[in-house]
Formats: sequence, structure tokens, C-alpha cells
Amino acid sequence: MQREALSNIEVLIVGAGLGGLVAAIECYRQGHSPRVVESRNEAEGVGDFLGIGPSAINHFQKWPPMAETYRNIIYKPDMIMYTYDGTLIGGPLRLSEASHWRPVPVSRPKLARALYDHALSLGIPIMFGKRIAEYGESEDKAYAIDDRGERFDADVVVAADGIGTKAGKIVPGKAKAVSSGWSVYRVSYPTMILQEDPLLSKYYSFHTEDQPDYCDVFMSPKGQVIILVSRDLTTWLFTHEDKGEAEETWTTRKDSSLALQCLQETGLEWDERIPAIMKRTPPGTIVDYKITWRDPNPTWTSPGGRVVKIGDAAHAFIPNSTNGATQAMEDGISLAACLKLSGKNNITLATRVHTKLRYKQLSPIDLLLAITERFTNPAFSRFERTSCAQKQGFRNKEKWEKDFDLIRKDPLAAAKSVGRWTSQHNPEQYVYDKWQAAVNHIVSGAPFQNTNLPPGYEYEPWTMDSLNLLAGMNDGEIPADPGDWD
Ligand SMILES: Cc1cc2nc3c(=O)[nH]c(=O)nc-3n(C[C@H](O)[C@H](O)[C@H](O)COP(=O)(O)OP(=O)(O)OC[C@H]3O[C@@H](n4cnc5c(N)ncnc54)[C@H](O)[C@@H]3O)c2cc1C
Repeated sequence: MQREALSNIEVLIVGAGLGGLVAAIECYRQGHSPRVVESRNEAEGVGDFLGIGPSAINHFQKWPPMAETYRNIIYKPDMIMYTYDGTLIGGPLRLSEASHWRPVPVSRPKLARALYDHALSLGIPIMFGKRIAEYGESEDKAYAIDDRGERFDADVVVAADGIGTKAGKIVPGKAKAVSSGWSVYRVSYPTMILQEDPLLSKYYSFHTEDQPDYCDVFMSPKGQVIILVSRDLTTWLFTHEDKGEAEETWTTRKDSSLALQCLQETGLEWDERIPAIMKRTPPGTIVDYKITWRDPNPTWTSPGGRVVKIGDAAHAFIPNSTNGATQAMEDGISLAACLKLSGKNNITLATRVHTKLRYKQLSPIDLLLAITERFTNPAFSRFERTSCAQKQGFRNKEKWEKDFDLIRKDPLAAAKSVGRWTSQHNPEQYVYDKWQAAVNHIVSGAPFQNTNLPPGYEYEPWTMDSLNLLAGMNDGEIPADPGDWD
């Protein structure tokens, strides 16, 4: 890896999830000195799959050999869409290549492992078993303290500790989570287990070298199933009505009989593959992940600007957005570039510009008030890019519940989960392009406009209430917005 000139900036990253590891590697490349603390006792291999868009993945080209490793661990499927009973409605659509319309799926444990190995190969210290309980800052330092009282100091502390972030005290405004009424049963297990089943091996076998992986989507108003099968891993997801038993955690394991029962309770005749794949699932292995709505999180940086939240700690996404990991990774890339431009003596400016690049433009009066209140008032904090991506996730969810004739007419539109405005973004270049204008804006109130949003869309702040998510809950329509979201 070609490393930039050393900056002498010490960066402490809390959390070795995807966002934290990407931030650590990119900080290293940009010449900073990162180290990571993680509450788990070892590099984890937890989770099934997620999608990551080109705006984050393209960056692996700068981290040889990550681009090649990534290419080897992604799924390479064709996506086919059916109604719940197995009637074909669209596809196959190639999901193995980077596109502007849907991220390529990748095994989360494999990607987390690859990033961890890459960070280690660069000599980045990663300390396990350090559960951070408190964050703080002084004029010239920031720190994090773990639950046994050990203190870690740095020039800047990055809270990449996920939805349960402990940075809520110093970075106020933790968004309240409200149940969407839905949750997802999900699991990953070796494909050889599935292939022991005569029915399933008929559907999911590999006959030639270049045969694509399988990605079958079954849609209904009462839930959706995704079956993703590669030569070594089988994953299934069943989005279903939550009876209040689901949790927002990836570690509680349940039995697939619960999913089978839930499938029956829909009263629909599901395709034979679905109950078969559930029955084949090893006992006590499935997660029931609760889908929650959140208002955009209003604040990402501490009053002194030395503690900054990234990833899910700053902006959690529902799975339908297929954007959580992408945006977490973009955050790390953007922050590392800002620190490079600011230098060690202007850390606060770096974190403010980083967050500004997703802020709404402030009027001069707003700006004055914002400075007076040290940017802690939520009204001044409008994270445009990530909150647009969150909103898109709500719309995606609706697409697979309703009009199947529409899907027949335009399968690509139904499969599409992101747009060019997300995929074609380059978070590092964006910092270089916008840095000076953002600094002028922060320092002297010069006008500033973000351009990393859907073209033609003037950002409108939203809340769960304003989108009618709470009133409509399961069947609320999200009104269309102007601009090019494709
Ligand atoms: C175990 C796990 C499995 C997941 N599986 C999937 C999946 O299969 N599909 C999917 O779409 N998404 C999954 N996600 C979520 C997904 O990875 C994130 O939404 C996305 O990648 C954003 O990443 P992040 O780094 O911001 O947060 P996360 O990936 O949640 O990472 C946060 C990290 O911080 C650590 N941490 C938390 N609290 C503390 C603390 N107090 N002190 C120190 N460290 C702390 C956590 O152990 C974790 O490693 C999973 C998340 C986790 C943690």
C-alpha cells in the first residue's frame, strides 16, 4: 500500500466492525496512526451477508491486495423474483458485477475477516476485550475509558461502536428506535447441508464452473423471503411481522421452527423451497433481527469536535436500504481525508468539515446561532446524504409488498435498491473537491451546497412522523420526492 506522508495524528477507533476497520485502514493509508479497541474477545465471524456499493468498494483499489480478496469472497448471483407461491415475476438480473442499482452481496463474516487480516498486515494495533463505557475530550485530546477503567487517549476518537454506541453522552442526540412492526429471521450455513436434501439439491446445484450463484426472492404483502446460495454458503432471510419477540441484536440464536410457524401463520401457500430450506437449518442458529425506524441522528461530533461517530453509531439503516455498510465505510474514507487536509493542529475543523459534507446549508442567522450553541442544537444538523439513503430504504421495503404487475413490467426497478447518486459517489475525492468551500462556510458563513444527493432534489428534513411511518406503520406510503433518485 502506498502510504501518504505521516501526519502524527493519533486516531483511536472504538469498534472493529466494518466501519471501524475501514476507518482504521484508511487512516493508516492517509498517514495517520490508528489503533482499534473492540469489546469482543476475538475477530468475529458473525452475520450472514450484506451489500456494499461501488462508492465504498472502489476504494479497495488503493489497498492492494484487498480488491482481489474482495473479488474472491463476493457472491456472484443472478437474482430472480417470484411471488410467494413461486410464480416468476422477473429476472434473472445479474448481481455479480458492480452496478449503480443494487450492491453486490458479500458474506459479512468473510469481509470482516478480510479487513481484519488486512489491518493486521499493516501493523495496525487491534485490542480485543475492551468494552468502552465512556468517551471524553479536553482542549487538545480525546479519550475513551473501558468498563474496567482503562483509558485510551488520542488526538481524535472515532466511535464506530454500532447502534448501541456509548458516545451518546458526549455526542448528544441518540435517535430513538421505534419498532417498524417487522423483523427478519436470517441465517447462514454450509451449502452442503442444503444439498443433502433431495428437493433442495434439485433446485440449488452447481453443474458448471461459471454457473452463477442463486438469489431467489419471494414476495408477498405478508413477508418476503430471500434465498442466496453459493457453492459454500447458503443464506435465507424471512422478513415477517414481529410479534414483539425480535431484538436488535445479531447474537441471540433461535430455532428455525419459529420461522416455519410464522410462515404458516401468513395463511399463504409458499413455494416448496421455502419450508424445505427452513427445515434443513441446523437447530438454534437463526437470528430474529428487529427492524426499527429512526429519525436521522442529529449530531455526530462532540462539542469540542474531538469525538466523532461513524457508521451505525451515527446513522442506522433498515436492511432494505442495502446501504448501512456502504455509508459506514464512506464515513471512514471521508474522515481520514479530512484529517489529512486539516493536519494535527486542526482536528476540530476536520471533524466539522466531515460532518458538514452531509449538512444542510445554513442561513447566516442559523450559522451564528449554530456557532453560539457549538453545533449541539439538532436543528442545525442535517445529514443530507445518509438521511436520503435511509429514506430510500423505507421506499424499497414497500416495493416488494405491493404491486406485482408493476414488477412484471419493470423488474429492474423492483430490484433496484440504490441509485447513481449513491453508487457513483467518491467519498475521498468529494472531500478534496469541497474542502475549501466547507471551511469557508464554517469559518465565515460563505454559502455551501452539498452535491452528493439525488440530482434535482432539494433536501427536506424528515422524521418518522413526517413520513407517516408511525401512523401508517406497516402500510404507510412514503410520498415520492422530486429529483433523480435512480
Ligand atoms: C456481529 C454483527 C453481525 C452483523 N451481521 C449483519 C448481517 O449479517 N447483515 C447485515 O446486513 N448487517 C449485519 N450487521 C450490521 C452491519 O455490519 C452494520 O450495519 C454495518 O456494517 C455498519 O457497520 P458499523 O461498523 O457501523 O457497525 P457494526 O458492524 O455494528 O460494528 C460495531 C462494532 O463495535 C463493537 N462494539 C460495540 N460496542 C462496543 C463498545 N462499547 N466498546 C468497544 N467495541 C464495541 C461491536 O462488537 C462491533 O464489532 C452485523 C453487525 C454486527 C455487530
